[in-house]
Amino acid sequence: MTILSLNHVSQFYPIKQASWWHRQSQTLRAVDNISLTIEKGETVAIVGESGCGKSTLGRIAALLEKPTEGTVYLDGVDVATVKGQSLKALRKRLGLVFQDPYSALNPRMSVDELVGEPLAAHSVGDDAYQRSQVLHVLDSVGLGEEVLGRYPHEFSGGQRQRICIARALVLEPSLIIADEPLSALDVSVQSQILNLFVRLQKTRDLAFLFISHDMAVVNYVADTVVVMYLGKVVEKAPRSTFFSTPAHPYSQALLAAVPTLGNPAKSGGRRRRERGLQGDVPSPINPPSGCAFHPRCTRATDLCRVAPPQSTAFLGDEAHYVACHFPGGEPYAEPDIQGEAV
Ligand code: ADP
Ligand code: MG
Repeated sequence: MTILSLNHVSQFYPIKQASWWHRQSQTLRAVDNISLTIEKGETVAIVGESGCGKSTLGRIAALLEKPTEGTVYLDGVDVATVKGQSLKALRKRLGLVFQDPYSALNPRMSVDELVGEPLAAHSVGDDAYQRSQVLHVLDSVGLGEEVLGRYPHEFSGGQRQRICIARALVLEPSLIIADEPLSALDVSVQSQILNLFVRLQKTRDLAFLFISHDMAVVNYVADTVVVMYLGKVVEKAPRSTFFSTPAHPYSQALLAAVPTLGNPAKSGGRRRRERGLQGDVPSPINPPSGCAFHPRCTRATDLCRVAPPQSTAFLGDEAHYVACHFPGGEPYAEPDIQGEAV
């Protein structure tokens, strides 16, 4: 059963640049013609460097922004066709978790108010039901009754993120959208929250849109990996296929740069340089011609400079799509990180 379906979705932001001699209006293509589906119980991970459009795609999926082009279907409903109470009911299907658990929680509200607020806002059940549901979701994120009357400043970052996750779960959504939910946390806490996500996936049959720039995390949680570069999907594959045979040079470079947890010898800048992921993501206002990755690609030819690559099945595998003129090449071993992230 498909929970979320994005069809040819784009998000263009108008950018006004004024200088003393002229004004010009340009377009920033943050998300450019992306189609994607998420099935019940499936975790789709969106990866890519900062500035590739991951959060913009997440905001569109979360119904926080309307796309410039394309359609969004949630639970089979075209969200552009619903308003008012029907849209409110549709929003109940979504739980949102963001990067920063410090700014996400109103400091003047106690935990019972914070977690119970969505139930009250949607008038779900009576007081007794709301209280039992709050306790139930707090228990699922590893927090007990004693936290009910306490306030956000009394908690650590990891505990605050647990409260945010409880809030996201309280309306029993079918899809959780989590945008870099571990990035603001101490490394020691990250694996605990990561394990919490995995446990919730298993016990609640939830679908996840999990946005991360961390390949080790993605290897741990994803069923499907989607790699974004400058607003476009450059590769999409089931997790094991992706980590054993990444086909796009950008994916290969991202994997080569994995700072292998607990193994400093393999990590960091040296490997990154060796594998050639150099420079930064170019501006999406003036993206490079042809394949947008070509200025950073060691395999680029004249063709890549002029012709945008089409997305095609890699080696005939209908589950593995790559947008590259010369996909494949150097195979990579799956990073040795599965056990260490826990
Ligand atoms: P990521 O989450 O992968 O880092 P974002 O989706 O945040 O990427 O941003 C993609 C691009 O869109 C960036 O160049 C960013 O500056 C730009 N962008 C994001 N939101 C806006 C906005 N509201 N107005 C203008 N530009 C934006
Ligand atoms: Mg982001």
